Amino acid sequence: SAKRDKNRFMVYTQQEDTERRQQLRLAQELPDAIDNNQLRLHFQPMIRMHDSTVIGAEALVRWQHPQKGLLFPDSFIPLAEGAGSIEPLTRWVLDAAIRQGSKWLSSGHKLNVSVNISALILHNPIFPDIVNRLLEQSRFPAERLKLEITESAIISDVVRATDVVTRLHELGVKVSIDDFGTGYTSLAYIRKLPVDEIKIDKSFVLNMNTVSDDAVIVRTLLELARNLDLSVVAEGVEDRETWYMLAGLGCHVAQGYYMSRPIDVEAFDSWLTTSPW
Ligand code: C2E
Ligand code: CA
Ligand code: CA
Ligand code: CA
Repeated sequence: SAKRDKNRFMVYTQQEDTERRQQLRLAQELPDAIDNNQLRLHFQPMIRMHDSTVIGAEALVRWQHPQKGLLFPDSFIPLAEGAGSIEPLTRWVLDAAIRQGSKWLSSGHKLNVSVNISALILHNPIFPDIVNRLLEQSRFPAERLKLEITESAIISDVVRATDVVTRLHELGVKVSIDDFGTGYTSLAYIRKLPVDEIKIDKSFVLNMNTVSDDAVIVRTLLELARNLDLSVVAEGVEDRETWYMLAGLGCHVAQGYYMSRPIDVEAFDSWLTTSPW
């Protein structure tokens, strides 16, 4: 049996090794993938609850890999962060999202566009200049661009993050705290930052209609946001009941599969004209 355990251990490490090598390969492929237009943006609508109006869309990146098919961000964003590709990736995402936002404006859809920003980017002092240049290039109003950052991104380097967030705010760009409620020492910092919005993490929202502790947390986060004068987005709204609970609690904006999954631009545009929202 000792032998069997040893074999099992070897099989396990072999699998791990293969996986690690595959990840390394993916990380190496990423720079070319960006240049060769293998990245895609999907958009998920954000809906103002009191009048059920679509007010924005979150851009969520995908990688159309020639062999592996459509890859989701959790499988390559961490690699991009580790391999120095997160800056070109973010630049690509920002550029594509801003240009799509301009197109929507031209066709009469006044939508805000939200983009996810990694911690590493938030610590780069020239990031606000990059954002500014992209906005100017496509004449997209800064106020319609929202950058979603996490609490941990702020806390990991408070001084630099504060400087970057402050300068983004001066440009008129909106800042949102993503995955809100999952961090630890959050509040003290958030109070000092020019933040416009918090997004309640979907882990609290997904089951709030059945798990009363989750509902209590959501209600507490909403109260907190109200006291700090922040707008609140709830993500992970998957059913009608959750929608009505959130509306009853005074949540401003909802996002989730109940309204729409993240979809490509073509599907988004037809959703805009056919959905009841
Ligand atoms: P996130 O920013 O928290 O984005 C929300 C995730 O929840 C998305 O997953 C979205 O598809 C999913 N979601 C939305 N509504 C629902 C729902 O009702 N139920 C459930 N179960 N899930 C829902 P996705 O697209 O796989 O993105 C995962 C994460 O990858 C994002 O989490 C974000 O942290 C990161 N990410 C995505 N795009 C980018 C990007 O361009 N740059 C960076 N740095 N990170 C990105
Ligand atoms: Ca987000
Ligand atoms: Ca989240
Ligand atoms: Ca996340």
